[in-house]
Amino acid sequence: MTSFYPGPSEVYSRIPRYVQEAHQAGVLSMNHRSAACMALVKQTIAELKKKLRIPKSYTILFLSSATECWEVLAQSLVAESSTHLYNGAFGKKWLTYTQALKPATAVPFHHETELPVAAYPGDVLCITHNETSNGTQVSMQLLKQLRQQNPKALLAIDATSSMAGVALDFSLGDVWFASVQKCFGLPAGLSVMVCSPRARARVQELNERQHYNSLRSQIQFMEKFQTTHTPNVLGIYLLYRVLQDLELIRVVSKRVHQQAAAWYGLLDQTKILQPFIKNKQVRSQTVVVVTANPRQIKQVKTRARKAGLLVGEGYGELNDTTFRIANFPAIKPGEIKKLMTLLKKLPAAR
Ligand SMILES: *Cc1c(COP(=O)(O)O)cnc(C)c1O
Repeated sequence: MTSFYPGPSEVYSRIPRYVQEAHQAGVLSMNHRSAACMALVKQTIAELKKKLRIPKSYTILFLSSATECWEVLAQSLVAESSTHLYNGAFGKKWLTYTQALKPATAVPFHHETELPVAAYPGDVLCITHNETSNGTQVSMQLLKQLRQQNPKALLAIDATSSMAGVALDFSLGDVWFASVQKCFGLPAGLSVMVCSPRARARVQELNERQHYNSLRSQIQFMEKFQTTHTPNVLGIYLLYRVLQDLELIRVVSKRVHQQAAAWYGLLDQTKILQPFIKNKQVRSQTVVVVTANPRQIKQVKTRARKAGLLVGEGYGELNDTTFRIANFPAIKPGEIKKLMTLLKKLPAAR
């Protein structure tokens, strides 16, 4: 089976080999305070910064999920309150988890409209760069404008289903994060958080130390390339190996954009299937959401499964009327071609 699920998604085909390699190299029982582990963490960070073009001055932390990142930001980065701009299920969940800990303002917007740029209250603005539930993406241009209009606030950006798939301008945000089971093409259980010097200063100033995963402690431990607790060492090793193979993000991003254009082009051609998002300005490059009538959607899923291809279920309330296609770098061109052919030949469902 090849999975087109936008998370957990198809992993790079070399992963089994790297797991074997990790076992042979003693990584599976490696002490997380050992010199070898610190060296691994250091090298992984260097590789991340190089391949994804993350500024040298930024700090990289390893957590276990994007959900943990949401919660840690609410506890350790928000001083008084945050404002959440969102148009889908993941952005809304982030708001809900935050509201359990701190006051937070909701700014919902429609999935066909662009991010509403304005001056907002709150000391942290929370944005979902790529909304995995509905297949929308925020442009770097709008992030830039949002920053200009909110010079004092910190920008926290959930890039779970876009980081390592498309080029991001990290200088436009203070905290970026992603779990690795999406665009990174890795198994779940690890997330990457990228913090700007401004974010570090805020964490220092707030000095929140009540939790095992308080950012203050995490940043302090990372100065020695360590974590507050035993981390997912195998996950970090796999991340390191996959990053070593990865081309520079500029190159990967170009290919992902071309592939996205091919997906949307195909949907424009077929009568039966349509892109769920009509506004080209807000369409995601990494998660393509397809709409059709419910019978047709069922037929696609069945036919695809018979061909050894797993398409992503529509998310939440969009389950009956959409399906999703991950346009992630780990999926092989041959498999993409297979699914494209299948969709092109789709007969009308009776
Ligand atoms: C998948 C996803 C999450 C949740 O990731 P976990 O690793 O399961 O916590 C959060 N935000 C976005 C945008 C996602 O796509």
